[in-house]
Amino acid sequence: MPDLDLLVIGGGAAGFFGALAAAEARPGLRVLVLEQGAQPLAKVKISGGGRCNVTTSITDPAVLVAWYPRGSRELRGPFTRFGPADTMAWFEARGVRLKTEPDGRVFPVSDESQTVIDCLLAGARRLGVGWQVKAGARTLEKVEKGFAVEASGGQRWTARQVLLAPGGGSAAAYRLAAGLGHTIVPPVPSLFTFNIKDARLEGLAGVSVVAAHLRLAAHNERFEAAGPLLVTHWGLSGPAVLRLSAWGARALAAEGHTGQLQINWLGEAKTEDVLEQLLAEKQAHPRQQTAKHNPLGGMPARLWARLVVLSGIPETQTWADISNKTLRTLAGELTAGEYAVQGKGIFKEEFVTAGGVNLKEVDFRTMHSRVCPGLSLAGEILDIDGLTGGFNFQSAWTTGWLAGQAAATGE
Ligand SMILES: Cc1cc2nc3c(=O)[nH]c(=O)nc-3n(C[C@H](O)[C@H](O)[C@H](O)COP(=O)(O)OP(=O)(O)OC[C@H]3O[C@@H](n4cnc5c(N)ncnc54)[C@H](O)[C@@H]3O)c2cc1C
Repeated sequence: MPDLDLLVIGGGAAGFFGALAAAEARPGLRVLVLEQGAQPLAKVKISGGGRCNVTTSITDPAVLVAWYPRGSRELRGPFTRFGPADTMAWFEARGVRLKTEPDGRVFPVSDESQTVIDCLLAGARRLGVGWQVKAGARTLEKVEKGFAVEASGGQRWTARQVLLAPGGGSAAAYRLAAGLGHTIVPPVPSLFTFNIKDARLEGLAGVSVVAAHLRLAAHNERFEAAGPLLVTHWGLSGPAVLRLSAWGARALAAEGHTGQLQINWLGEAKTEDVLEQLLAEKQAHPRQQTAKHNPLGGMPARLWARLVVLSGIPETQTWADISNKTLRTLAGELTAGEYAVQGKGIFKEEFVTAGGVNLKEVDFRTMHSRVCPGLSLAGEILDIDGLTGGFNFQSAWTTGWLAGQAAATGE
């Protein structure tokens, strides 16, 4: 008889959630979680700036899936079975009080990710789920009655079923999946900032607009995103950029994280309409200095002044002295400025991997592998990634829960 009913590789969000779901659905099931690091749930700890953005308030599966550049089709069914409302109910029922912020992100009321970790570890203790740290699975083999796993340190286990949940981006973990017959969609980063060295942005770090519209051209593809935009010391960040980095993750990676970015600092405003407003201003206030007087609103004074000057309008020039041609240049700069993305920066709040185990090889009713019986997969090892806002944890909870349920019920 194998040592274990279920061996979980990876002590992260998906792995722990899967282990707990299995043990809860079938008390007495022998479940062990192997974690290669010194602490379980290390990413939960650092997530959401230490607060852990557990999930999102968007609960309708049809709406929710739009937040997943990869995996949206496959996640729709799973979200009807275990979605954000179930996640919230699950944590609340186990003593984690949650709050929803105005932008829809859900956090523990404590504002401490440790609350989530404590809840998961207490659950494991209560249910008799074991976990072992500093135990990275080195080999994973199919044997007659299940699987044999050897961890760093030489310890070996046999298990009837294995849940592979080692997160994204680890070449060694992808090899474990590939060794059992899975194909790996090449991993590339998602949710990153843009490195842009450009005179228009220099010295403006910290300046932001609340509703920019961005267009990106990379690798012969085009992407668009809207939202807050923030100037950083290295280029640009903010939700609009992170969204573009996620939708354009593959195209950007194919071009060494370079591309052509077009910024509309005024959101949806059209160049011709903005030009008309500028011409009207020229009529109305001919003696005012353009760099000091933004008739359009919607952006910080420093940014306005910079775009005015770099459109060829001296700082002290008045509206009356500006040619209509120069005003057209300014309208273009405000609504369709072209910037070269020269590389990717790091985003300290969140960063995920696009790519991973090919979704066609997984049955999303059970998270069972379609190529290796007895194996299930959950979390970021799959070719699934979401935007920022709790979506990445939600896919980890959902796929972990489905895998655990199926492992327990022998579905
Ligand atoms: C800084 C940061 C902040 C984030 N904040 C948020 C947030 O607030 N909200 C949100 O939704 N998402 C957030 N994310 C994304 C989220 O953390 C991940 O999508 C999520 O953790 C994926 O869960 P997982 O269980 O699949 O992988 P992980 O959480 O990465 O867990 C996998 C675990 O497996 C272990 N492992 C790997 N290989 C082996 C092996 N061979 N043997 C044993 N163990 C192994 C790893 O050490 C790891 O602990 C953040 C990411 C980062 C980097």
